[in-house]
Amino acid sequence: MNLDTLYQEVILDHYKNPLNKKLAPTFDAQVHHINPSCGDEITLNLTAVDGVITAITWDGVGCSISQASVSIASDLLVGKSFEQAEAISDDFVELMQSKGKKVGDESVLEDAVALAGVSQYPARIKCALLGWMAIKDASIQAQRK
Ligand code: ZN
Repeated sequence: MNLDTLYQEVILDHYKNPLNKKLAPTFDAQVHHINPSCGDEITLNLTAVDGVITAITWDGVGCSISQASVSIASDLLVGKSFEQAEAISDDFVELMQSKGKKVGDESVLEDAVALAGVSQYPARIKCALLGWMAIKDASIQAQRK
């Protein structure tokens, strides 16, 4: 099995069996982000305790890349401090801007490296970043509380 096939399976698995896709009734920040160019849409709830993200839940519709990416991010960034989450997000943004030149550090990005190939398709990068930008936005709001 080559890497592309494996990565496609990771993305498809997150799309079919999304993690944390059930909005928690309580939260510190709620955001709604859309990607009009593709029709992707998510609502995301974030909870934090003492500077650590303790819950990220979401609901949404859209393409497999957008939905898989928010599933991956919501799993990866929970349990991280706001600072850690921001550093990991920055790494992911860098990967998405690499135009296919970077493969991503799996020890930092875990399943998100499966999205590396998206960086070769400028029109899809917004799909992949939607969930991450929503988490960033929610983190800023939660920290203001
Ligand atoms: Zn999309």
